[in-house]
Amino acid sequence: MRPLRFVVIGGGPGGNSAATYAARHGAEVVVIEKDVIGGAAHLWDCIPSKAMIATGGAMSFLARAGGMGLGDVSPRIDVDNLSNRLARIEERIHRSTTALLESQNIRIIDGTGSLKGPHQVVAETADGLEEIEADVVVLSTGSRPRIPAFAEVDGERILTTRDAYPPKEFPDHVIVIGSGVTGVEFVHMFASYGCEVTLVVSRQQVLPQKDPEVAAALEADFLRRGVRLFKGARAESVTRDGDRVTVRCDDGRVAEGSHVILAVGSIPNSDGLGLDTVGIETDGGYIPIDPYCRTSVPHVYAAGDVSGKLPLSSVAQMQGRKIAEHAMGLTEDRPHRQLDYDKAASAVFTEPEIADVGLAEADAFAEGRKIRVTKVPFSASAKAVINDDPRGFIKIVSDPATGVVLGGSIVGRHAAELISIVALAVTAGLTVHDIQESLFVHPTLAEALADAAE
Ligand SMILES: Cc1cc2nc3c(=O)[nH]c(=O)nc-3n(C[C@H](O)[C@H](O)[C@H](O)COP(=O)(O)OP(=O)(O)OC[C@H]3O[C@@H](n4cnc5c(N)ncnc54)[C@H](O)[C@@H]3O)c2cc1C
Repeated sequence: MRPLRFVVIGGGPGGNSAATYAARHGAEVVVIEKDVIGGAAHLWDCIPSKAMIATGGAMSFLARAGGMGLGDVSPRIDVDNLSNRLARIEERIHRSTTALLESQNIRIIDGTGSLKGPHQVVAETADGLEEIEADVVVLSTGSRPRIPAFAEVDGERILTTRDAYPPKEFPDHVIVIGSGVTGVEFVHMFASYGCEVTLVVSRQQVLPQKDPEVAAALEADFLRRGVRLFKGARAESVTRDGDRVTVRCDDGRVAEGSHVILAVGSIPNSDGLGLDTVGIETDGGYIPIDPYCRTSVPHVYAAGDVSGKLPLSSVAQMQGRKIAEHAMGLTEDRPHRQLDYDKAASAVFTEPEIADVGLAEADAFAEGRKIRVTKVPFSASAKAVINDDPRGFIKIVSDPATGVVLGGSIVGRHAAELISIVALAVTAGLTVHDIQESLFVHPTLAEALADAAE
């Protein structure tokens, strides 16, 4: 029997994951990528933003050297060194991702892919058009920043998140519009580099989708660091005059600064994919999928941001893996676990770091659901005191009758790492007793999890 022909359009986390799993299980795989293997995630989103934040974190760590028993350290930014660091990271991750695909004999086509028919994909390359027959097609073309009608991006002073790095210079005063995860990460990033920052928040809470107690902890830290918050203000216009930018809000407030960053969501890359040709309809530009990530055409799947589910690299990768399992028939001898988006852990890489998974306390109350909530502050953790950073807390939400862990929120250092233990408990249906009975290393921050599970 000939191998299954698997064609992936878009080489980001969703597409690459589908490709590698399918190849590992014997499919003949082609990935068509028009830009860079690794996708927006590697080029503009997850990797450079976290690299910039890690450098800012090193600065704030050094600035607190006194608390660690050291003499005063006054770190300063070296823009060239930082730009080189970002370039090195990108190059290294790009090389390793490409090498992984090539090691599995996956063919990479440098071009733009689209559907020509239900089983035909066309790749438009520098050498012309190539038509490829496919048994399975994966659409994983990602998304791009949304630019609001009131702003005109110039790439110099009025920026999307994609224009912000590598930094050519550091802003004196950056105004961030949008207080979702991306917006607050940019606020944190620039504040930790010592820039003045104003955040325009259309609601009354930063991170409006998060637990109010968690959001309040971040707001308090922003205020402590001198970030100006325009709460309940909608930006209505952004103008530039020479080196200065002005943001006017609907409540009359005006922010003036040197740069503006627009962090107001994204739009899916579904145009030009030939979806009409095969009868796939979009919903607000997103490609609707079923629990197996199938579009309305059964052998055409979609993964990642373009599918309109949780816009996270981790989710895109898991979708890619589920697609390969389903399309390759790997679910026959073991039940196919559908992806439960409600159990996806997520993090906000700010200071303090924020991470959560599963059911949030506020959502349980809104639904009138009975829950048990236990919480411990990091100030009670020996390791947090040793680290001279006792900020934050761990909160665990469980079922009062069975003790099954339903969710958790963590605010504090290494929250994004620690939440994985709670995520495992939520996914595996473990109880608070299972966490309590686990013998964690002492002294570690993870011990606080066992206390929070008491
Ligand atoms: C600033 C920022 C920071 C983020 N940080 C995190 C984080 O820390 N953790 C996290 O989990 N998520 C993070 N995200 C979200 C994450 O980047 C996305 O969810 C992830 O990139 C989605 O992966 P994807 O495979 O769907 O798309 P992408 O990574 O966008 O890849 C899609 C690829 O498809 C290619 N493509 C598009 N159309 C075509 C075509 N017709 N033919 C060929 N190729 C095509 C594109 O060039 C691109 O390479 C962040 C997002 C932003 C904006």
